Amino acid sequence: MNEGYSLLLQKAIDAFAGLPGVGRKTALRLALFLLKQDKEYTHRFVQDIKEFADKIHFCDRCHNISDDPVCPICKDPRRDDTIICVVENIRDVMAIERTGHFHGRYHVLGGLISPIDGLGPGDLHLSDLPNRVTAEGISEVLLALSTTMEGDTTNFYIYRLLRDLDVKITVIARGVPMGDELEYADEITLGRSIENRIDFASTLRSK
Ligand code: ZN
Repeated sequence: MNEGYSLLLQKAIDAFAGLPGVGRKTALRLALFLLKQDKEYTHRFVQDIKEFADKIHFCDRCHNISDDPVCPICKDPRRDDTIICVVENIRDVMAIERTGHFHGRYHVLGGLISPIDGLGPGDLHLSDLPNRVTAEGISEVLLALSTTMEGDTTNFYIYRLLRDLDVKITVIARGVPMGDELEYADEITLGRSIENRIDFASTLRSK
């Protein structure tokens, strides 16, 4: 598609269209929107994104996104420091935080075990989890992964990784429908499945 005669416009459209969910029509609309704003606005916009790219951290402890080496949730002394909730990604942290039903800390895996996608345990933040459990004196690890095959595989891997440690391993109740991505569950359902979490080993026996 030829958007016109300006190579600069073409480049701006290419930049926007490279974002997920942005087609070329929308990209053109965004580029023309910027053109209508004060230059100040666009400079600020670009500066904010640049700063985000340059300065963002992942928490040394839980791998959550953070402005500092350790994230605000890990630093917050009011959080329950005996329970860790294991999630796939940062969006899941946000979803669980919105429920207000979890007051412990997190461990963000950065993905799920998925042989089809070539993702093994080594590609995820898994190896430091047993260490955290021991070093931080954790008494419960709550598995809050998607109810998909990849989620199940990852749950079981973590169970095997931790089962010899002195820690209770629980899983969110299946109020989250099968095959659902965690972040799409509504807050009430998700909150309830955290409240009604069950012992992980009991789910193995029922299979
Ligand atoms: Zn953290």
